[in-house]
Amino acid sequence: MHAYRTTSGERILLRGVRRDMAVSEKALVLFSGGQDSTTCLAWALERYDEVETLGFEYGQRHAIEMKCRPNVLRAIRDKVPRWGERLGEDHLVDLSVLGEVSDTALTRDVEIAMGENGLPTTFVPGRNLVFLTFAGIVAYRRGFKHLVAGMCETDYSGYPDCREATLKAFQAAMNLGMGTHFVLHTPLMWIDKADSWALAEQLGGRDLVRVIIEETHTCYLGERLKRHSWGYGCGTCPACELRFKGWKSYSKSGQETAVG
Ligand code: ZN
Repeated sequence: MHAYRTTSGERILLRGVRRDMAVSEKALVLFSGGQDSTTCLAWALERYDEVETLGFEYGQRHAIEMKCRPNVLRAIRDKVPRWGERLGEDHLVDLSVLGEVSDTALTRDVEIAMGENGLPTTFVPGRNLVFLTFAGIVAYRRGFKHLVAGMCETDYSGYPDCREATLKAFQAAMNLGMGTHFVLHTPLMWIDKADSWALAEQLGGRDLVRVIIEETHTCYLGERLKRHSWGYGCGTCPACELRFKGWKSYSKSGQETAVG
């Protein structure tokens, strides 16, 4: 039995996911077109009657994730029809200013390596805080209570803005600053990449696992030509390594049944 917690500390057993738990509330999902945010989107679609998605353009070195986003949404509507009617508007916010002021391997042609400060050069300082602020602004306008995001402290890339402590503090600051009662959910916070694959299968079956393999993008180098059992990518960058490692462990555990 796997378990994970939301940032509010709610502990949920994955195998205990029940559709009738869904309440008539609305959720906004931070959705990049990658594996993690796609799994979070499925998590939200299983729980809430109305789910909208939010993406950011910020001068990513490779805009492939942005190209994958509409394909993932289309595939989810096609493959998991019960979610199709809950899946609403997709919002895109232009944050190119973030690329202008930060100098990292995700926004510039800089080598992916460990920086002198102990953080990888893929770290865009403040990125998730900026994303969440804009998510709050969009949710406020739309009258949504729940924000869902894919930050994770397990299999951790070392980004301090993915930590639960950061996000709990941010939720409090945002609610104080906006006069709101947003609940920030991070369903992947305490599960590893193998459990993320398992969670996807539990939520949307093998169809959703196939959507993640075929349509999502995680590779830092933007490689879409090499197809592996776990999806597309260069196979060697830190994001590909993590995705592969999780897939291998998920496959070995026997939960995956000849999807790839
Ligand atoms: Zn890669």
